[in-house]
Amino acid sequence: MKIQGRSIIGFNSAPQSDTSIKAIDPSTGSEIEPPFYNAETETVNQAAALASGTFQIYSKKSSQERAAFLNEIANQIEAIGEPLVTRAMQETGLPEGRIKGETGRTTGQLRLFASLIEDGSWSQARIDTALPDRAPLPRPDIRSMSRPLGPVVVFAASNFPLAFSTAGGDTTSALAAGCPVIVKAHSSHPGTAELIARAIQKAAEKTGMPDGVFSLLFGGGRTVGSALVAHPAIKAVGFTGSTAGGTALMEIAAKRAEPIPVYAEMGSVNPVVLLPEAVSQNVESIANGLHISATLGVGQFCTNPGVVCIKKDARGDALVNRFVEKMNNTAAQVMLNATIHRAYCDGITQLQENDKVATLVSGSGNDDDSPCLGAAAVFETSASSFLQDESLSHEIFGPGTTLVRWQNKEELLALLESFQGQLTGTIHASETDLGNYSEILAVLERKVGRIVYNSFPTGVEVCHSMVHGGPFPATSDGRSTSVGTHAISRFTRLIAYQDSPQSLLPDELKDGNPLGIVRLEN
Ligand code: NAP
Repeated sequence: MKIQGRSIIGFNSAPQSDTSIKAIDPSTGSEIEPPFYNAETETVNQAAALASGTFQIYSKKSSQERAAFLNEIANQIEAIGEPLVTRAMQETGLPEGRIKGETGRTTGQLRLFASLIEDGSWSQARIDTALPDRAPLPRPDIRSMSRPLGPVVVFAASNFPLAFSTAGGDTTSALAAGCPVIVKAHSSHPGTAELIARAIQKAAEKTGMPDGVFSLLFGGGRTVGSALVAHPAIKAVGFTGSTAGGTALMEIAAKRAEPIPVYAEMGSVNPVVLLPEAVSQNVESIANGLHISATLGVGQFCTNPGVVCIKKDARGDALVNRFVEKMNNTAAQVMLNATIHRAYCDGITQLQENDKVATLVSGSGNDDDSPCLGAAAVFETSASSFLQDESLSHEIFGPGTTLVRWQNKEELLALLESFQGQLTGTIHASETDLGNYSEILAVLERKVGRIVYNSFPTGVEVCHSMVHGGPFPATSDGRSTSVGTHAISRFTRLIAYQDSPQSLLPDELKDGNPLGIVRLEN
């Protein structure tokens, strides 16, 4: 499949524009052909108008028809094969195993959502039948369920070129809900984005979906993304990226004549709490697991363990020494792009220059042949310094870990209270530790979306019960998740039908339960 570099509007391609970008190979810094033409205002308006018109048709497609579409997208992605792997590796610097694994996660996710909607129980159908003889007032017949919101704009993430990108979790959950999707491609992997978009286009044509159910727009410099979020046809936004980007989009959405929800998944330092008995019993396995988690994907995961809270005692020192040894022996790896690499280097430089922080592993600079190399870094500070200096709690996106040493339970609790909303919180504890430090659980429950016991936060399972969310600023809306099938509810709203004729009700709400789904009745 030849990459053309033109935005995709439904079943057609946008014309070439005057400006373009090229993908950069982060391992060499060299440009990769072809150019990708920035979408102009006209293209943004066309895609939005088409999605708006299509919504009426697509939202009426049966769950079975939408499921067939999602399954066919998965088939078409698999059919691309080697060219997808090669292009994604070239654009992201990620190794073959990771790209293949992520492709599997992406297709698995599409099929999981297909099976979810085929069943229909996700729609939260509820029925309160009429009570005409109720005194003092009769009750009308009321039935409600989740219905799709309308066209959704998805911002592809740089760090998951497949699973959080063009056909990633946001796109999949919006399409499953019955919403047309416009993806703003990430400029870091535009060729990968186009290959996947063409797979979605083919799947839409093959399964009889309406023109405009999916579009992909290229463009940098914030203009395309801002215009999409501001467009009146758009009814919701899915985003994964920086706190600055996510909050800027929230602001645009809130200022519209009709404000719309922005589901932004932003930064997180994912605190890991190591309790004393667990540490003394498991120095080697904790040091090993922490090292793997901190350096996986060159630390470029939103669930990367950025801050680790360890008691200041001899057992804690032993663990720190083992962890530092492993981080010191970790080869530098290519990061996703020059911007992310620069932000990582700036972040670790700030910590190196902070006189309240000890540098245990200094981390990376650069290499002429490989301009985006990121090397592991480890810093240590005391709980009291951490509590006094807010900058120490900022995310450093990459393989950098800050170890915070606490003296007693009160200090640990103060430390945990100081964290803003996080995606995850991890506890390593023995039964005795859990008894001695029981108060920390309630604090973590207020602060995070997922609590991990005696394991590590990276590796987010895509399943029905997963919560990949958390209070602001980890996400814009702590009631939601961007991974797992709960994600579908972000792109729906509840509608109640009062005294509706049976013929006008969706099948999910009809008498006799023709779809055989789980419903809450009376
Ligand atoms: P980003 O700068 O937030 O950009 C992500 C997408 O949002 C891009 O398509 C970008 O469009 C768009 N965007 C950002 N700010 C915007 C604005 N003000 N108005 C309109 N559109 C806007 O994220 P990134 O490029 O992937 O990485 C930068 C940093 O984000 C990283 O260093 C890291 O700290 C963080 N990050 C976090 C996660 C996470 O999982 N939470 C994932 C990846 C990155 P343009 O192409 O037009 O700029």
